[in-house]
Amino acid sequence: MAVSRRQFLQGGALAAAGLALNGKPGEASVDAPQMRTKGLKVSTTICPFCAVGCGLIVHTKNGKIVNIEGDPDHPINQGSLCPKGGALFQVANNERRLQKVMYRAPRSDKWEEKSWDWALERIAKRMKETRDKTFKATEVNKKDKKEYVVNRTEGLAFLGGAGLDNEECYLWSKFGRAMGVANLEHQARL
Ligand code: SF4
Repeated sequence: MAVSRRQFLQGGALAAAGLALNGKPGEASVDAPQMRTKGLKVSTTICPFCAVGCGLIVHTKNGKIVNIEGDPDHPINQGSLCPKGGALFQVANNERRLQKVMYRAPRSDKWEEKSWDWALERIAKRMKETRDKTFKATEVNKKDKKEYVVNRTEGLAFLGGAGLDNEECYLWSKFGRAMGVANLEHQARL
C-alpha cells in the first residue's frame, strides 16, 4: 500500500501521542529492521585518504571491524563521505590485503616472506648508507661563489600520508629534518 508523506507524518504523530499516554514504546513490528550496528563497540577516527580529514565511526565486534561510516557529529563532513571514504571498510577487510612483509631481492623473480624486524633493520641500514653517501655539510653558492653550511642530503625524500595526525606529522617532519632531508612532501598536498 502506498503511503503519502502526509499519512506518514500523521502516523508518526499518532504513535508519538500513544507513547506519551502509555509512557512506554509499543512492541516493535516484525517488519522493523534491527540496527545492524546495535550492541557493537563504537570508535571514531579520521579517513586516511586525503587532506579533507573526514570523520568516521568504526564499529567493531570481537576486535574485528564490521562497519565504517561517516560521523554525523564531525564538523568537516557531517556524516558524508566520498566514494573512497565510503569504501574504506574494504581496506580493513580484504583478502587481497598484504599483512606480511614480502621482499623481492634485486634481479630475483621470487617474493620471500620476511619479518617486520628484518624490514625495519634493512630500511634503517639503507637510509644510513644513502645519507652517509650523499650528505653535504657545505655547498658553494653559484651566484656569489661563497661556501655556505647546508647540512643536507638530496639522496633521500620523505613522503607523508593523510593517515598521520598533526602530532605524527610534526614528529615525522622533525625526524626528516634531523636526518638532513630537504625533500619533504605530503601525499595530501599532491
Ligand atoms: S578521501 Fe573522501 S572521505 Fe576521505 S577524507 Fe578525503 S573527501 Fe573525506
